[in-house]
Amino acid sequence: MSASPPSRKTVFSGIQPSGSLHLGNYLGAIQQWVRMQEDRNSFISIVDLHAITVTQDPKMLAERVRHLAAVLLAAGIDSEKTTLFVQSHVRAHAEGSWLLSCVTPLGWLERMTQYKDKSVKQQSVMTGLLTYPVLQAADILLYDAHEVPVGQDQKQHVELTRDVAQRFNHLYGETFVVPEPVIRKDGARIMGMDDPGTKMSKSEAGSGHALLLTDEEAVLRRTIKRATTDSGRDIAFSDDAEKAGVNNLLTIYQLLTGKDRDQVVAGFADARGYGDLKTAVADLVVEKLAPIRSEYTRYLADPAELDQVLQKGAGRARAVAEPKLNQVKERMGLAVPAELR
Ligand code: ATP
Ligand code: MG
Repeated sequence: MSASPPSRKTVFSGIQPSGSLHLGNYLGAIQQWVRMQEDRNSFISIVDLHAITVTQDPKMLAERVRHLAAVLLAAGIDSEKTTLFVQSHVRAHAEGSWLLSCVTPLGWLERMTQYKDKSVKQQSVMTGLLTYPVLQAADILLYDAHEVPVGQDQKQHVELTRDVAQRFNHLYGETFVVPEPVIRKDGARIMGMDDPGTKMSKSEAGSGHALLLTDEEAVLRRTIKRATTDSGRDIAFSDDAEKAGVNNLLTIYQLLTGKDRDQVVAGFADARGYGDLKTAVADLVVEKLAPIRSEYTRYLADPAELDQVLQKGAGRARAVAEPKLNQVKERMGLAVPAELR
């Protein structure tokens, strides 16, 4: 990869190897990453240190990292244009997280809605679940990222990152770029098929909830056919909680076709109810995901190539993150020994 001209913006985003990728991840995040890698200095991290904030099966985690890398490449991430790497391969993230946790008030973390949502689902809540947004701040700030393309659910965490950066800059002098969240207008929050009141999530158990990028055609069709809707017939975008299921199906349709809302609704003027809508959405989802699924299978068949991509990515990431970490330590008065320079 050639050196980036100085005017190029840097983007950073992360994704957890906490389960299989779903359409929400694709429409909320990955599509933006694929677009942005064309003219940005782009870093995408497989954030395994975030995934272990809730219990993971150690035997499965390494496999999940590989699968995730394969899906990301299949979905259009180009490892020449994007530095694609595994978070735990770059030690500066964990170390940076500790340094930043020492300038982050506890109250900021206790306010995070994702912490509140995820902690109620755990029998016992580990400290890491609370401090995870600080690790996320380190991820972003170590790369001097200007932009963080994420789904709506991550907006609060990126705002916390901004607060942490500003506080650090105030305490120790200008050190970090204060990043902006980049959230697409529509579709930044794809809802579960089974329950349009909760967002589609990787870690949500159960069939019928998510549309996985790697699901077989029959599974996709069945899940969409069974999607929760309401008892009406009106095919229209709506903020009404009652209509959230139909709104979600229309949003998926809109984003996959690239049409505007009026065009989408006009296209269903002759539909005979939600059955027709579901069939149209299923046809489209199957068509759009088929090439991703076949590329994914191809990448998975060559684990050595995947490992090589990730190894190269980690090297490129370290070359940026380590000098930045040293700068942060020095600002805080921690001497950096010569062998770590
Ligand atoms: P988990 O349930 O383990 O938190 P997740 O499905 O929320 O998994 P993440 O790895 O936390 O996925 O997030 C990866 C990216 O996908 C983030 O940018 C996040 O904002 C985005 N994202 C996650 N869920 C959705 C969704 N339902 N709609 C749109 N974007 C989403
Ligand atoms: Mg999440």
